[in-house]
Amino acid sequence: MSRYECPGCGYIYDENLGDEHEGFLPGTRWQQIPDNWACPDCAVRDKFDFIPKTSAVDDAATGHRSGSRSALG
Ligand SMILES: [Zn+2]
Repeated sequence: MSRYECPGCGYIYDENLGDEHEGFLPGTRWQQIPDNWACPDCAVRDKFDFIPKTSAVDDAATGHRSGSRSALG
């Protein structure tokens, strides 16, 4: 499953989620979307303008552990 981003407004079509507002059920592949489909957000960009977001970005969160706290009695 891939995601495609509108270069105009940043709207992202996720094949996993689809876009039920547009009539695309979850799991609808990009190839199944009509070529004359326009971005639902800005309606300026067409399907072929979208940018494929193929590779997932690994965002490694660094956890900082604070020192031990002594319990006060
Ligand atoms: Zn757009």
